[in-house]
Amino acid sequence: MPWLMKNLIAAVALALMSTAAHAQEDAPEAPKWSLAIHGGAGTLSRTAMTPEQRAEYEAALQAALDAGAKVLAAGGDAMDAVKAAVIVMEDSPLFNAGKGAVFTWDGTNELDASIMDGRDRSAGAVAGVKTVRNPILLADKVRTDSEHVFLMGAGAEAFALEKGFAVTPPEYFATEARRRALERMKADKLSALDVDHKFGTVGAVALDMEGNLAAATSTGGMTGKRWGRVGDAPVIGAGTYADNRSCAVSATGWGEYFLRVGVAHEICARLRINQSLMVEGLLATLPSTEEYSGMTPEALEAFRAKASETVSSAWSAEAQTIADDVMAEVAQLGGDGGVILVTPQGDAIFSFNTSGMYRGRATSSGVREVAIFGGEEKASATPDH
Ligand code: ASP
Repeated sequence: MPWLMKNLIAAVALALMSTAAHAQEDAPEAPKWSLAIHGGAGTLSRTAMTPEQRAEYEAALQAALDAGAKVLAAGGDAMDAVKAAVIVMEDSPLFNAGKGAVFTWDGTNELDASIMDGRDRSAGAVAGVKTVRNPILLADKVRTDSEHVFLMGAGAEAFALEKGFAVTPPEYFATEARRRALERMKADKLSALDVDHKFGTVGAVALDMEGNLAAATSTGGMTGKRWGRVGDAPVIGAGTYADNRSCAVSATGWGEYFLRVGVAHEICARLRINQSLMVEGLLATLPSTEEYSGMTPEALEAFRAKASETVSSAWSAEAQTIADDVMAEVAQLGGDGGVILVTPQGDAIFSFNTSGMYRGRATSSGVREVAIFGGEEKASATPDH
């Protein structure tokens, strides 16, 4: 058993025992929600970014965060919250998703998106669509209104038409900055990383007041992509995953590496498995039931509340460690990028191995922050328990 988990079990067991000794009142848990968003990770430089550019990105991130937080604060669904946040970023030319997507080698914009509902692990995804303004909505339509999970290219567009999506002219997605990036890439024989310096994929993950998790990711891919290249963003388990039993994850980065590690599912699976090991460990450490036989119903209730609080706070550290470990695996293979995740306990977590990641988080505890470079956020974004 990893030492971290052993320590967690010991801490939880200790806390439980001391609570049993002085069982006291504990308020019932308040409803809580949590949201994290990203607008891509990359080799961002503080000096190369003007205060105006920074303000522009921060305002766009804030608008996306506000759109998702509004849904959750009103008691809405995690699925609606992630869609609301992603749509704002798809509509902004600043990010590599929807309007402002990067160009393919052939000078087109081809969009990928995926979405997953942690309640029932239903999922939808599309790749290589050229005429759908908000690919995240089409991915969701695949989830709710087809027998499939993943549609691509012309077929995905035919499905969109059939389901009443308006045809958006391809010019809508094109921006001058992205066109210049493709031209520079071709003229100077640069790689996508050299021209882009950052991955502008967008994503959102949420926990709603009902305790449901959701994840969504949308991208234009990487500049100069060809041969029908598809990255991790629309692949369930690589760029996006949500499971109420563990967490919701959205990724951004060099897609080929995220695909090879299966990043989003890997993080959720490790959390789920560690959690059950932790519970087993706890059961083995607890004193025998006879020792509790003298407890009043109130004392027992207080004991339970304390137990759940203790497990929750132990869980934040565990989730961050697991996300960091999986990102370290991506780095080990030679890839870079980052992830956002939320846990059923409401932790909103970032992990990235680039110098920056456009990101934000909001929780029912009043956390509302957007950040760009490493280490800019406050210490904790776990809602009060
Ligand atoms: N992960 C995306 C891809 O490989 C790129 C990004 O994150 O911007 O297509």
